[in-house]
Amino acid sequence: MAKRSGNKNSRIICSFCGRTSGQNDTFVEGPNNVYICPECVDICYEIITQNKKRFQKKRLNFKQVPRPREIKEYLDQYVIGQENAEKYLSVAVHNHYKRLLHLDSGSDVEIDKSNVLLIGPTGTGKTLLARTLARMLKVPFAICDATTVTEAGYVGEDVENFLLRLIQSADYEIEVAEQGIVYVDEIDKIGKTTQNISITRDVSGEGVQQALLKMLEGTIANVPPQGGRKHPEQSYIQIDTTNILFICGGTFVGLENIIKKRLGRQMIGFDSELSGRKDTKNEYNNIIAQVIPEDIIEYGMIPEMVGRLPVITSLGTLDEGALIEILTKPKNALIRQYQKFFEMEDAELQFTDDALHALAQKALKRDTGARALRSIAEELMVDLMYQLPEEPKGAKYVITRDIVEDKAALHTAKKNVKRESA
Ligand code: ADP
Repeated sequence: MAKRSGNKNSRIICSFCGRTSGQNDTFVEGPNNVYICPECVDICYEIITQNKKRFQKKRLNFKQVPRPREIKEYLDQYVIGQENAEKYLSVAVHNHYKRLLHLDSGSDVEIDKSNVLLIGPTGTGKTLLARTLARMLKVPFAICDATTVTEAGYVGEDVENFLLRLIQSADYEIEVAEQGIVYVDEIDKIGKTTQNISITRDVSGEGVQQALLKMLEGTIANVPPQGGRKHPEQSYIQIDTTNILFICGGTFVGLENIIKKRLGRQMIGFDSELSGRKDTKNEYNNIIAQVIPEDIIEYGMIPEMVGRLPVITSLGTLDEGALIEILTKPKNALIRQYQKFFEMEDAELQFTDDALHALAQKALKRDTGARALRSIAEELMVDLMYQLPEEPKGAKYVITRDIVEDKAALHTAKKNVKRESA
């Protein structure tokens, strides 16, 4: 047992660094005339806590994987609609991390990993779903764009750069990165039949798919620490992708026609069920929900790649009602954020129902899903936000449909109701 040494007369030497004790030094004494100085204690403490942290980080943050229902309920707080995709993802993610815990337990049954393919129009929540999942599970997360990848020899990135982003998100803790989630966007743009052929990429897109395939399957990848293209003299970071969950997303424009064709005769009956052509968005959602792997292969993805994406699910287009909900409901909803800003300036902000409808209608016209909402709201609010800190406190601002539609000036928002100044 170590004991404190306060012997000021005899000179004590630290057995670790060799320093001699000074007047008011407290050296800790161990058995057999072993001493340690305060500096060496500090260093030891640092080494031990760092290793502890590293060890804790290596393990997943949960002993029990959250149940699919819990995952979905968490997603529901941020994602509007997309019930089907949420459900599929919750199950896939639950199984994925259960599989990792199962691997830890050393069982001899091997469970394949279930990478996910999300299909849906732009701005419907594909990235949001993946990002929200990673946040819930507290695992590293990287968003990558498949169109930036090129086959070796062409101008562009190597697929390994996707992994570099994940490693960076894990603060260069490789073991932690190896349990992360990578979202690969625009996966449909590397299909064989893509219209997006560019001279900087291999013409078929197949080479890129092959390179991605290896990562999806599980490989020891060599990642250039500085990113960019690999070259022979470089030293690499090695990372095993076996336990990384890949969520791929794409809009797959025109896929609905392939599905329609396959459904063939069924479709005729299906079409007549719908009330005319007005409901085209609903029709699209119904068709795309029936996607099967063969449709994706026909679209131009290589079968091996589709085989490595066993969970396929679709996201529907968002209608006006959904856009209004996106504006107001999620924990980080845009309107709530603006209201918070106004509150900080001791002001109050309100949107009339009509104004919300007008905002959603404007966004629908841009055809970029919920993505348009942010830019429309920013355009609308910028002048008000600019002036707000200089305005008298205690005012209430009501945004009306006319203001959203540019038929009334923004400053009319303020004069509607005025609170008593506090
Ligand atoms: P994509 O499907 O193209 O990946 P994103 O997930 O990047 O679309 O969506 C862009 C933004 O639009 C998100 O950051 C989010 O603010 C909003 N958004 C899109 N879909 C939804 C949704 N279903 N629920 C809530 N917000 C959404």
